[in-house]
Amino acid sequence: MKLNNWIHGQGVAPSSGLYLDNVNPKTGEVCGLIPRSDRTDVANAVAAAQAARRLTRLERSELLIAVADAVAKRIPEFAAAEAMDSGKTLQATTHGDIPRALDNLRFYAAALRNDATACHQMEDGFNYTLRQPLGNVALITPWNFPFHLFTWKVAPAIAMGNAVVVKPSELTPTTATLCAEVFTQVGAPNGLLNVVHGLGHEAGEALVQHPDIKAVSFTGGTVTGKHIAGVAAPLLKKISLELGGKNPSLVFADCDLDLAVAGVARAAFFNAGQVCLCGSRLLVERSIYAEFVERLVAEVAAGAWTPGESLGSLISFAHREKVAAYVDLARQEGGTVVCGGNRVGPEKSAFFEPTIITGLAIDCRVATEEIFGPVVTVHPFDSEQQALEMANFVEYGLGSSIWTQNLTRAHRLAERIESGMVWINTWNKRDFRVPFGGMKQSGVGREGGRYSMEFFSQDRNVCIQL
Ligand code: NDP
Repeated sequence: MKLNNWIHGQGVAPSSGLYLDNVNPKTGEVCGLIPRSDRTDVANAVAAAQAARRLTRLERSELLIAVADAVAKRIPEFAAAEAMDSGKTLQATTHGDIPRALDNLRFYAAALRNDATACHQMEDGFNYTLRQPLGNVALITPWNFPFHLFTWKVAPAIAMGNAVVVKPSELTPTTATLCAEVFTQVGAPNGLLNVVHGLGHEAGEALVQHPDIKAVSFTGGTVTGKHIAGVAAPLLKKISLELGGKNPSLVFADCDLDLAVAGVARAAFFNAGQVCLCGSRLLVERSIYAEFVERLVAEVAAGAWTPGESLGSLISFAHREKVAAYVDLARQEGGTVVCGGNRVGPEKSAFFEPTIITGLAIDCRVATEEIFGPVVTVHPFDSEQQALEMANFVEYGLGSSIWTQNLTRAHRLAERIESGMVWINTWNKRDFRVPFGGMKQSGVGREGGRYSMEFFSQDRNVCIQL
């Protein structure tokens, strides 16, 4: 499959004529070609956005519903494309990623109709707030949940009246193009949604720099996020950065053990650990430490997280090498690999075993750096205070989970853990309305619900003398 960019409502080849290989990480085979776009393609996409006819509020809501309905009729096609690009299982994309993306579209179609702004009364006057679009916005999306995060940003950006240019990760380009085609098929004005494929430091960078781009919403790694902030901030663009995490799961001796073992394993290995929220640091109260590790290993052995069956591959061969290097480093840092630790699958594939590592110091590299693979390190603690200090030790602050039946303790910790999202006796249970985002090195701003709607708009106050 040779993909095109999608500019002004049609497929367009890159101006350079250059393409990148799209590699299937389950086989290592090239499964398609992706435009290697440059500054010219970005300029064309932004010009198309600038010229796009703007829709009324009702039209925007109806457009998002029409797109969701049209994609819903093609779930197998979208799910197959997503699984091929990302290495996920077809089961995961069919029942997880694609339906979830449709929910994003439908949520913002409804949220838009329910949006209201404030009125501030005075003795002799009053103020009302106009909520207006920013203009053209750039959406830079990663490879771990390609279509979900594409719609997570596209839906609120379009709902609030903007035109958008998306630069998807070049590792997972296909569903973005398929969806852009659907927008045009169901009647979106040309240029309202544009997709420019290519490399981050080429197409992505040119997009962030473009003077007619008013805001940048980025999800990806912290290093790249900082770089984008450095480019966008002096240009006074609005930025939203959803970055990395090294998220703790805190397990207390009074937890429901069955629930905690299953939940902690899911937090560690879901999507092969390629989740910004994944629970990659497991802190366990010492009195149940040995039993908990044993049960976690048994959970993996029972087959819920088997690469090539219930679990997909990593995103790429190169990324698997990075993950494997962290496991080697763990051994050098004094850790014991009690489960997994190996590359599996065909020679050029990117499968990796779910891996549990014990015996590491809480401040070593493997326990503090984001690995973004199916690797969890386990550390014992002796008191609630020590657990809190260990949880807050890292530079990240995205998510955390607390496993205890003592809700007083859970609430106490939830207020003090340095993370933007705290789950109690669950992990990654999501409601579209709640704020999503991190503290410390995990990002700037919040997305989700009204937070995304506020990000993709600007408020203007009007004051009237009575
Ligand atoms: P990046 O953060 O580099 O990439 C995310 C997106 O940003 C991609 O679309 C990428 O394009 C784009 N990008 C890269 N550089 C620039 C730039 N200078 N200007 C504009 N856009 C840019 O992720 P990686 O794939 O390199 O992964 C690195 C690490 O980041 C992972 O190992 C993981 O730790 C973390 N990560 C976190 C995610 C999260 O959900 N928070 C998601 C993905 C990764 P391109 O793909 O072409 O480089």
